[in-house]
Amino acid sequence: MQLLDGKVVSQSIKERIKQEVAQMLDEGKRAPHLAAILIGENPASKTYVANKEKSAREVGMISTVYKLSENTSEKEVFEIIDFLNNDAEVDGFIVQLPLPEHLDEQKIIAHINPDKDVDGFHPINLGKMLLGQPTFLPATPMGILELLKHYNIETEGKHCVVVGRSHIVGTPMALLMSRPTYPGNATVTLCHSKTKNLQEITKTADILIVAMGKPQYITADFVKKDAVVIDVGIHRIEDPSKSSGFRLVGDVDFESVSAVASWLTPVPGGVGLTTVASLLINTLQARKNKME
Ligand code: NDP
Repeated sequence: MQLLDGKVVSQSIKERIKQEVAQMLDEGKRAPHLAAILIGENPASKTYVANKEKSAREVGMISTVYKLSENTSEKEVFEIIDFLNNDAEVDGFIVQLPLPEHLDEQKIIAHINPDKDVDGFHPINLGKMLLGQPTFLPATPMGILELLKHYNIETEGKHCVVVGRSHIVGTPMALLMSRPTYPGNATVTLCHSKTKNLQEITKTADILIVAMGKPQYITADFVKKDAVVIDVGIHRIEDPSKSSGFRLVGDVDFESVSAVASWLTPVPGGVGLTTVASLLINTLQARKNKME
C-alpha cells in the first residue's frame, strides 16, 4: 500500500500559493485576505479554524477570525456576514460548520456573497459546479481531486463508490468524479444510510471515497484488492496513552484496509490537510477575480 499523503500534497500547493502571493506583494498589490466566522465552542471547529488561520498566514495571506458566542442570534451573524460581504479588503470568508442548533445553516450560507464563498457552499456556486462552470469548488472534494492529481491516479472508466451524501462532501464528490475531465470520467455509485448491501457495493469499487462520519467503519472486508481508498472521516476517540487524552481516526480502519488497498489516505495527514490547502487555492482565486 502506498500513502496518498496529504502533507506532501498540501505542502506543494502551499509552496505554489506562497510564490504567487509574494509576487503580488512585489507588484505592490495587497495580499489575499481570508476571514473566518467561528460560532460556539466546538473543540474540533476551533482546531480547524486555527489550522486554516495558520496555513493562510504561512503562505503570506492576511487572516482574520471572528469568534462569536454559542448563543449568537441569526441577526448578529447576518450583520457580520453583511460586513464581510461589503468589506473590499476581504477576498473570501467561511462560516465554520457545524453551527449551533438554533442557527439555520442553509439560510446563513445563502447570505454569503457567492464571490466571497471560498468554501464553495453557496447555492450559486454549487449550481455552477453542477454545470461545469468556473467556480469555487467545495474545499474537501476539491482537496481529494488534488490528491488524485498529485499521485496520477487513473480515474477514467473506473468504478468510484462514494459513501455519504452530505451537501459539503459526498454529493459534490460524486458529481465531480463523474465529470468529463481528469480527475473524473469515473462511473459513480453514491451510497448512504438507506443503501442496501453496502459492503457488496464498496467491494466493487476501484476508488472508494468514504465520508460517512462513522469511526473505523470501513474494514478490509469492505474493500476490493488494490482499490484506492480515500478516508474523509475525522473522529476523536479516547486514548489515555496520549497527553491530549484522545487520538484521531477516520471512517476507515487504517490498519486492516492498508493490507488490501493499493493507495490509502492516513488520518490525520490526509484529506484534512488538502481541504485547508484547497481553501487557500479558492482564496487566491477570489483575490485574482477582483484584480481582473
Ligand atoms: P454527514 O453526517 O453530513 O453525512 C454522513 C453521510 O453518511 C450521510 O449521507 C449518511 O446517510 C451517510 N451514512 C451514515 N451512516 C451510514 C451507513 N451506515 N451506511 C452508509 N451511509 C451512511 O457527514 P459529512 O459529510 O459532513 O462528514 C463525513 C465525515 O467527514 C465526518 O467524520 C466529518 O467529520 C468528516 N469531515 C472531514 C473533513 C475534512 O476536512 N477531512 C471535512 C468535512 C467532514 P444519510 O444521508 O442517509 O443520513
